[in-house]
Amino acid sequence: MRSLTTKAYAKINLYLDVCDLRPDGYHNIESIMQQVSLCDRVTVEQLDEGHGIKITCTDPAVPTDERNIVHKCAVRFFEHFGIKDYSIAIHIDKEIPSCGGLAGGSTDGAAVLKLLNELYCTNADESILCEIGVKVGADIPFCIVGGTCICRGIGEILTPVEVAAAKYQVLISFPGEGISTPAAYKMLDSIDRHTDHAGIDDVLSALRGGDIPTEMYNAFELAVLPGHENARLVKKVMLDFGAVSSMMSGSGSTIFGLFDDTANIQNATVALGKLGFESHTCSPIN
Ligand code: ATP
Repeated sequence: MRSLTTKAYAKINLYLDVCDLRPDGYHNIESIMQQVSLCDRVTVEQLDEGHGIKITCTDPAVPTDERNIVHKCAVRFFEHFGIKDYSIAIHIDKEIPSCGGLAGGSTDGAAVLKLLNELYCTNADESILCEIGVKVGADIPFCIVGGTCICRGIGEILTPVEVAAAKYQVLISFPGEGISTPAAYKMLDSIDRHTDHAGIDDVLSALRGGDIPTEMYNAFELAVLPGHENARLVKKVMLDFGAVSSMMSGSGSTIFGLFDDTANIQNATVALGKLGFESHTCSPIN
């Protein structure tokens, strides 16, 4: 019996534009994804007996059958390498809020692909793991590569970005309103998106220069925030307590704030806690 454990990091989007609709029904996006230290812990164990994939998770709301992204990733992995005789147990110690726009499921899937690659000595490089992962989810390649990347296509065409050492901390707060990605796209279709907003180059030049991006953009914010009072409140609290900037991540409704002052981040955490919102202080990972 062999067992390996790894951290599976969440991501935030510092920029996210939704572009054209593709013939396959997906949208092209242009995004800057940033890995952060908020993480799940994923363990994969090779079992001596039995056959198949058993999943356990500390969050009872997360499915532990074939609907779990880690199950889909493991099946794709075994198919890709022609491995038919397998018996594994996967345990997910969940810290990342589900359905929050933090790629919580995708990062668990990416972690499982990496761990299986080690356990089964398949020696696949990152590009092969990304090829397997993207068949399960568009965010999985980024979760495999990590750091800071420009993500195009459906999110799978990655350009790593060299950024200066980060001078900020990230406060992440889930307002308790999970939003599925398809629901967020529906909300997006119902609004006029022709507004002035920060460009991707504004965010990139701040990151490259070691500055905190003050101008960020997420196309989903305009569509999602009007109908989500708690998310609006969390964002207001972050800004009131000194966040340099604050935005919704991905398709929401998690709100993150970028802070350059430890006292401010602590005060914001207390204020959010008094309103009943849990928050996590974390750092960007590069
Ligand atoms: P993204 O940012 O990639 O759009 P998300 O963070 O909004 O994703 P997830 O936390 O990945 O959303 O969860 C989306 C759905 O996937 C939920 O319905 C959840 O039940 C399901 N799911 C499947 N596997 C997992 C997993 N390992 N962890 C969390 N959710 C999972």
